[in-house]
Formats: sequence, C-alpha cells, structure tokens
Amino acid sequence: MSESESKSESEKWKDINKSKEERPKVQEYKNWKELPPIPISFAIDASIGRTGDWRTFRPIILEGCNKCGICWMYCPEGIIKKNEEGEFEIDYVFCKGCGICAKECPTDNIKMVRESDIEDD
Ligand code: SF4
Ligand code: SF4
Repeated sequence: MSESESKSESEKWKDINKSKEERPKVQEYKNWKELPPIPISFAIDASIGRTGDWRTFRPIILEGCNKCGICWMYCPEGIIKKNEEGEFEIDYVFCKGCGICAKECPTDNIKMVRESDIEDD
C-alpha cells in the first residue's frame, strides 16, 4: 500500500496545508478521487478568459522538475497539464502569471521571468 493510500482524507488535507518546507516533496495520487478538494475555476476559451494577455511574469518549468504535480494542483486557473511523457506543461494562453505555481513548487523548479525579458516565441 502506498503512503497516499494509507492516509485518511483529513491526513491528506493536513499535508496539502503544510508549508512548502514541511510537506512531502512528492505526493502521488492514482486518480482525482484521492485528491483533497481544492476550489478552481477552469479557463474560459473566449476573449474575456484569455488571462495570458495580461501576464507580466511568465512561469517557466525548469529541467529539475521531478513531476510531483504540486504546481498542477495549486494553479488556480487549472491550466497546467500533464503530457504523454508525464511532464507538466503550462498553457500560456490562459496563464495569468500569478506565480502561485512557482511559490508552491517544492524543488524551486519554476522560474518567473518578466515577459519583456523573453525573446519572441
Ligand atoms: S514544476 Fe515543481 S511543482 Fe511542478 S511538477 Fe515539477 S517539481 Fe512538481
Ligand atoms: S503563474 Fe502558475 S499558478 Fe498562476 S496561472 Fe500561471 S501556471 Fe497557473
């Protein structure tokens, strides 16, 4: 039995509410039913929902990412996705640059870069 399976719902809540330094560096979930509830609003695919247009800082996932998924859990826009290789990707059309993912990343592998310092894609 994995560590996440053996924990009760209230114990998982305690983990997710711990500070970045205290909580487990890697949390594994088999499916969404194991996640503690987190309120998020999904991105709207219309001009009003394109929050990436008013971003000042861009979060960039660095090579040291251990694929723990904590950024995915915390992004309030729900726009960090896992690709087929198991890597996490940020949808910059909707990313508003709030920096929550960078703040919560337990390995400091999300760098916030000022948009004006980034060369054209
Ligand atoms: S960027 Fe950080 S929080 Fe996101 S999956 Fe990688 S290590 Fe985890
Ligand atoms: S900065 Fe990070 S947490 Fe904020 S919207 Fe973009 S991907 Fe999500």
